[in-house]
Amino acid sequence: MSIAENLKGIVEQLPQNVQLVAVSKFHPLENILEAYDAGQRVFAESRPQELAAKAAELDREKYPDLEWQFIGHLQTNKLKMVLPYVSLVQSVDSVHLLKEIQKWAAAAGREVSVLLEVHIGAEETKQGFHEEEVVDLLFDADKYPNIRFCGLMAMASHTTDESVIDADFERIDTFMAYLVDLFPELTDFNQLSIGMSDDWKIAIHHGATIIRIGTAIFGNRE
Ligand SMILES: *Cc1c(COP(=O)(O)O)cnc(C)c1O
Repeated sequence: MSIAENLKGIVEQLPQNVQLVAVSKFHPLENILEAYDAGQRVFAESRPQELAAKAAELDREKYPDLEWQFIGHLQTNKLKMVLPYVSLVQSVDSVHLLKEIQKWAAAAGREVSVLLEVHIGAEETKQGFHEEEVVDLLFDADKYPNIRFCGLMAMASHTTDESVIDADFERIDTFMAYLVDLFPELTDFNQLSIGMSDDWKIAIHHGATIIRIGTAIFGNRE
């Protein structure tokens, strides 16, 4: 199937309030433009160099409404490669990173929209905040005047057992609702980014407002 057909098959099944983010990492610019021509506007990358290279290669005047997001682990010494290009950093996973983004944004006179990445999967190594850390951080939200807190991002456990994935997403959905209740002053805090190629239907069932799809659009990565 072509990229356009893959996209169509997914978009047709999406509820109105769910945004499809096309994960283009490891795929060349031609494939991104093929998706663009099929109507896709939002793309995400997970490696700073790759994002910066693709964003620089792209003729901005020709594609003014093409939007980049960042979904990978971001080291603070790579901020400058990423922040100028993206509309959303989905993968803020430490207070240290958040503080550095705040500094960059204040110096640049910008506001940076972020999601906080929460660790919900079974894997010990997976990056992300624990739930109580997110609560503590959001109590301090006014320490970050140039950050717009837009919600949460998470990945389910790496398993084919759908009941485990279902439980992971159920948990983050419940946590999201708890935060929205606890911090009514954070009026932009309403996005839940869960769901990838193999589990996005389960994610939608549990309140996803953003799904991040790579393989099911572009095929396998090299
Ligand atoms: C690569 C990646 C995706 C997309 O994964 P697919 O299984 O190819 O859809 C989604 N989210 C993150 C954080 C990723 O790194």
